[in-house]
Amino acid sequence: MNQFSDIIGQDQIRDHLQDAVKSGHISHAYILSGPKDAGKHFIANIFASAILCTDRQMDSRGMPEPCGSCISCIQAAAGSNPDMIYVRRQPDRKGIGVDVIRAMRDDVVTLPYAASHKIYIIEDAETMNAQAQNALLKTIEEPPSYAVIILLADGTDRFLPTVMSRCVTLQMRQVPEERIVRFLTEKLGTGPARAAACANFASGVLGRAVKLAADEQFDTERREAADLLAGIGQKSYADLAAVAARYAPVKKKSAGTGDAAAQTAPNATGIGSIAEVCPLWFRDVLVMKDKEPAIYLIFSDRVSELKRMADALSYEAIGRIWDAITEYRRQIARGTAADQAMLVLLTEIRDQVRGSLQKNVPVQ
Ligand SMILES: [Zn+2]
Repeated sequence: MNQFSDIIGQDQIRDHLQDAVKSGHISHAYILSGPKDAGKHFIANIFASAILCTDRQMDSRGMPEPCGSCISCIQAAAGSNPDMIYVRRQPDRKGIGVDVIRAMRDDVVTLPYAASHKIYIIEDAETMNAQAQNALLKTIEEPPSYAVIILLADGTDRFLPTVMSRCVTLQMRQVPEERIVRFLTEKLGTGPARAAACANFASGVLGRAVKLAADEQFDTERREAADLLAGIGQKSYADLAAVAARYAPVKKKSAGTGDAAAQTAPNATGIGSIAEVCPLWFRDVLVMKDKEPAIYLIFSDRVSELKRMADALSYEAIGRIWDAITEYRRQIARGTAADQAMLVLLTEIRDQVRGSLQKNVPVQ
């Protein structure tokens, strides 16, 4: 069974929740906010299990942990604890509607089945519309003493201020890269270079790194992207346009048109986009410009290519590439078609690299 000690990189939240269980000062409503795959369910489950556990254990710091072997813990681990209730949106709905919250409200008034508390975990809580939130408000304003409501959300922007003010908000943090690397290498047996790459792509979200480590496509896409960037100085405009075309949005099949119109362009998957690889590649190029690199390389398998690029590119040229990456992101956020923005980015990188290589060719 998972315990508080299994939570990686969210020490503040762990301590807050363990304190609450230990002191018995458990709030009636929590918002646990963090990106997808950050581990919100994981933490909410451990917290709920610890509250309901009938034989809590103490860890080495004297903090409570669920025992993992009482009936309540066994049921919680199996997802069948009657006092731990998941509130989910209906699959065909965009968000959690008021009917779902009203059903929960009707259930809250029933006493716990076996435990001292009854815990509701609301998934995708940020998708509640205003009506649903107002319905929820009635419960969290005057909750029964045994009720604990945990809202899991990608962010808090969409919550009404009245809801926010009734909840203890726990914001998940980005997990430092080295902790993710350690987790992947020690717990999952991922090789160090791959673990470093996964950690980097995951932007501090542990669950995302774990998924990447298990994704076979990830290695292929990473290698393809590195191949492209290592040799980008020699690419023609047509080559780059072909790469960028992979990021074109999938075209809808329209009636009455030929095969060409019905063709669909493959959407980029896995690591998502070469644009995400670019900053990592040029980060490594910057690292290689140091005579004695102090930090590890993400592309540790491409040292000679990185070195060649580091020797050719000035800091100024790398700065311009960085600007191009920033501009690409701005364009994507603005809704520019991904293939167009990608082509502009790749062309700018190509021109910087090509210009630098030419400048640095030794004159006879
Ligand atoms: Zn237990």
